[in-house]
Parts: sequence; structure tokens; C-alpha cells
Amino acid sequence: MIGAIDIGGTKVAVGVVDSDGRIVRRAECPTAPERGFPDGLGRTIGMLREVAANAELQGIGIGCTGPVDPFTGVLGSVDLLPSWQGGALVAGLAEAFHVPVAMENDADAAGLAEAVWGQGRGKRRFLYVTVGTGIGVSIILDGALYRGVDGSHPEIGHQVIDASGPPCYCGARGCWESLVAGPALLAYAKSRLGDAALTGARIAEMAEAGDPAALAVMERQGYYLGLGLANLVTIFCPDMIALGGGVMQSSHLFLERARQVIRQCCTMVPFEKAELAMASLGADTALAGAAQVWHYRFGATRQTNAV
Ligand SMILES: [Zn+2]
Repeated sequence: MIGAIDIGGTKVAVGVVDSDGRIVRRAECPTAPERGFPDGLGRTIGMLREVAANAELQGIGIGCTGPVDPFTGVLGSVDLLPSWQGGALVAGLAEAFHVPVAMENDADAAGLAEAVWGQGRGKRRFLYVTVGTGIGVSIILDGALYRGVDGSHPEIGHQVIDASGPPCYCGARGCWESLVAGPALLAYAKSRLGDAALTGARIAEMAEAGDPAALAVMERQGYYLGLGLANLVTIFCPDMIALGGGVMQSSHLFLERARQVIRQCCTMVPFEKAELAMASLGADTALAGAAQVWHYRFGATRQTNAV
């Protein structure tokens, strides 16, 4: 059994995960970053102790939002958790539980879970893309997680798609996330439909009912999603791109448009071999991912070149 911890901007989830990626027990609480890192660490330890009361934990894996240092186990400058910056999460948990602890960025954690237990099984060149509050991408080649210099996580959600697009907090204009992530979709729909009270669910309903303005919003969503995916297909020539995250729950309204863009833009590579599939672990992805982070770093099946 592995203790799994998923740290997001709004909530911390913990669970106990078996060796097949099944979540045996779970609990969650608000992240409440304003209460500071020591308070957050203390609550996380308390919750994990409770859910793991009858389990013997072999180790603990963590998926955490934002830039993290996977080797020192320290949090970087996390926009969503400003008061947690510099927090030694891995060391704190190792001290409390006396087991090996590993941490990755949450997109990489989810990608590892999909690669081993989900849609990416047996795919040698596998990309996982999650579209929710932001966009996260994980690159897993021959079972090894791709890392940048110093263990950094490539921020493919911030690739520029439209240089005259809306400004993003990253410093660029028109990056993928600022056009396609949930808040961007909602902001565009509100301005296009002139309805400040619009919700994501309502736009989807309207598009399903054939409302022309809502359909135009979905056409734009498919177009920009498709451009970013087309860049990935052209650059990586992957076997598969698996798509997850909250926004993808409405994928039936825009994914065909994205496929069209890929067919149109990726003629220099075997784009038809790049399978575009929905991620398969659903609501369990984050905790399964955190557990897979531990297996990937310390487990018996890890590949020797894969740390
Ligand atoms: Zn950006």
C-alpha cells in the first residue's frame, strides 16, 4: 500500500492506493494556503494517518500543483500556494511516517498513472494533456518521464498559440492555457453571449441544444485546442495523446474540430498514427498518479534509466 497525496490550489486529497492503482480509502480538506505551510503539512499528515490507520504504508507519493523540485522535494514558486513556497514537503512527510517519499508536478503524476494503469499502457511515445483550471502536459517516452534541466517540468500549457491573444500571468500573450483552459473558455463565452452569469455546464447545454453562439464558442475551443495538440503531434510524433481534466468532460462538443485541425496542420508527420483518446482513470487520476510517483521512483518495476 502506498500513501497518496494530491495537493491543489483549493483542496488537498489523501488516499491509500494498492499496487494495482485502486484507491482503497480517501479523504480531503481545503488547502487553505493562507494558513501557511506548517499548518497545511500538519493537516495533511493528520489526514493521511487517519486514512492509513489499518494499512502498512510502504511509501508515500505526492502530486503537487505548480513547479516543484522532484529531487529535493521542495515546493517552488507556486502561484496557487504563495505561502507554501520553499516548503520541504517531502522531508516533512518522511520524518512523520519514516518511509521513502517522492514528489512530482501533478500533471506528471497523472501522466505516470495513465501510462501505467490507464490509456497509455503499452504506448512508447505517450503524452498526457489535462485541461481544467490550467493546462498540464506530461511527456513519457519509453516509460521514462521527460524532464528539463535541473528536473524542471516543461510548461507546454504556456506554448504561444496566438501572439495577439489575451495576456497570461506567465508573461506571454495568447498561450494555450489563456485560450483553452476552463477560465478562458468561460470568459470568452461570457463576452460572446453577453451573459456574466454563464457557467460551463450552461454553455455545454446550450451548444447541445444547437444555440448558434454557444456552438461558435465550441468551434473556437476546438480550433485552439487543436492548434496546441497539432504542435505536439508535429514535435513528438506520439503513439497517443490522452486527454483528461474537467474541460474534457464536454469534449464531444469540440474534439472533432480539434481532430480536423490536426489533420490540416500535421501533414509532415504520420499524424494518423497519433491516437487521440480520453484519459481513462477519471476522478481517481490524481491519487493514482501520486501513488505511481512513488512506484516510478522507488518501485521494483521501475526502469533503470527512468528516474
Ligand atoms: Zn501563459
